Amino acid sequence: PVILSVRDLTANVNDTPILKGLNLEIKAGEIHAIMGPNGSGKSTFSKVLSGHPAYEVTGGEVIFLGQNLLELEPEQRSLAGVFLAFQYPLEIPGVSNLDFLRVAYNSRQKYLGLEEVDAFDFEDIIEEKLDVVKMNPAFLNRSVNEGFSGGEKKRNEILQMALLEPKLAILDETDSGLDIDALKIVANGVNQLSSADNAVLAITHYQRLLNYIVPDYVHVMEGGRILTTGTKELALELEERGYDWVVEADRVKAGV
Ligand code: ADP
Ligand code: MG
Ligand code: MG
Repeated sequence: PVILSVRDLTANVNDTPILKGLNLEIKAGEIHAIMGPNGSGKSTFSKVLSGHPAYEVTGGEVIFLGQNLLELEPEQRSLAGVFLAFQYPLEIPGVSNLDFLRVAYNSRQKYLGLEEVDAFDFEDIIEEKLDVVKMNPAFLNRSVNEGFSGGEKKRNEILQMALLEPKLAILDETDSGLDIDALKIVANGVNQLSSADNAVLAITHYQRLLNYIVPDYVHVMEGGRILTTGTKELALELEERGYDWVVEADRVKAGV
């Protein structure tokens, strides 16, 4: 089954076209990576998928598990099983991480027609997930991401992901700024989630993450489009040769 199908997607930010005809299909059980130079539109794509209001879709379609994702509100997308780990996770002062996680968990339970859990039962659930990301329980009693280091924020994102068990997990440069131990923890969380009935889209500027999250497909994005697709060997080649040759090959192919 197809989890995500993106066809000829175009989108503007502040009336400037950023996505310029993006095509992508992700099937259940697959891990995809999008790589590309800075400014190629990777974060824009992830924000469009999450329904961020600053990004205006001007054409194309996005089908998620058979529904038109673009007509769903951001919260509905999340309930339907789209999870986005942000490049820069937001701090939410005054909201305890534990309460935040339980509300998110129960919203999804309700959406799925499953029973909501009380604070007591939630402790067992979250404890198991803390283990996945090797997080100290003390972080549950702090405000969401407030004063967390960059690495702790990323780890907290993965904790949310592990808890919500999305059908499509999108990681936008979750690896940037992480030391190798934190990187392995993030990768471990993703690998534990990954199964035959969900999919992962890992957006990254660096090949390093892909040593730990092994992708089935690697796409190169430039100028708001996917220029070429390969396997994990492509990521190694990009690391060695940079992106210019891909852009050049695309120009030659297009005859410009
Ligand atoms: P990437 O994640 O690949 O580095 P982005 O999606 O963040 O790329 O950015 C793509 C392009 O869109 C860049 O040229 C960037 O300057 C522009 N852009 C992104 N957000 C905004 C914004 N809020 N206002 C204006 N331009 C933006
Ligand atoms: Mg898999
Ligand atoms: Mg980005």
